[in-house]
Amino acid sequence: MHKPKWMTSLQWVEFGKRWADESGRIHCVGLACNSPDDRRMTVDHIQPRTAGGADEVANYQPLCDICNSKKGNRADWYWKETFYFDKPLVTTKLRISQHDFVYNRVLEFGEFFARPYSAVNSKLFCFLQAVAAGKALGIFTLPFALNRCSTAHWPAAPRVDRMLIVTKDQALRSQFAHELREEPLRFGLVNEAPRVVEITRGEMLAGDSPDYDIAVMCPNMLWPQAGSNYQTGELLLAWAPGIESVLHRHPLIVFDEMHYAHGGIRLLIGAARHSLVFGFTASPIDAYGELLADMVKMSVYGYHDAVRNDGSMKYIR
Ligand SMILES: [Zn+2]
Repeated sequence: MHKPKWMTSLQWVEFGKRWADESGRIHCVGLACNSPDDRRMTVDHIQPRTAGGADEVANYQPLCDICNSKKGNRADWYWKETFYFDKPLVTTKLRISQHDFVYNRVLEFGEFFARPYSAVNSKLFCFLQAVAAGKALGIFTLPFALNRCSTAHWPAAPRVDRMLIVTKDQALRSQFAHELREEPLRFGLVNEAPRVVEITRGEMLAGDSPDYDIAVMCPNMLWPQAGSNYQTGELLLAWAPGIESVLHRHPLIVFDEMHYAHGGIRLLIGAARHSLVFGFTASPIDAYGELLADMVKMSVYGYHDAVRNDGSMKYIR
């Protein structure tokens, strides 16, 4: 391993004393890695510089280039933490729409979702579901599925520590929040209820480490506000201050019935550089009959699936 250009000679000597084994070799400290490959070794900031980590030897550790890119700009504590969505989910209690068409569907793409989110995002991953397919609990299974992908394929892959659910209608937001607080426990999916908050003011998103597992909010707080330059007539978009850090704190963002604002969602997908963005809808087209931009189909659970699988579609008698 060679001294990186940005490190002083004195720091390099200290770094070696700290990390080299008896034979002078430096091994990658990534979880379950231990690679001794000199050519691939990098010096990582334990606490990232973007999060205020210091440029000093105490904040450096050896990581191979693969582990370093998996770690991204997350701090080390993150890898030692067990998040709510890392706990087991009792999938036998799920309906088929939730189990086969959401949870298992994500697992089928396990290796894909175990990569750093910044490498696989910039898409709207869509689940198309008939109305009454049990959407709230379908959405609830997503972070568990993503975290299972990480642990199954690469223990140091990103995991979801917090989920943001975005839906436009006030009554629906309250219903989501209520159902997610009550139903996972009542149906025996988990043995501890998630901490759910309903975001009603922008200030509620401002704290550094918000104390919840799931937040439900209105998209209007996430869109850039449009204005125009009166002299040139040019359209100007201004994001709410701090919006990137808000997005950054939610590795998983889920839009409910997102056809109302695909332009806004497209902007948001671009801004959420370290998040995965999913959508659940029964109608994946906008007001003009166009498909949503950047949409990727995950699964389709239609009327006939519903009738066949769990009888969730009732006929009017
Ligand atoms: Zn490694």
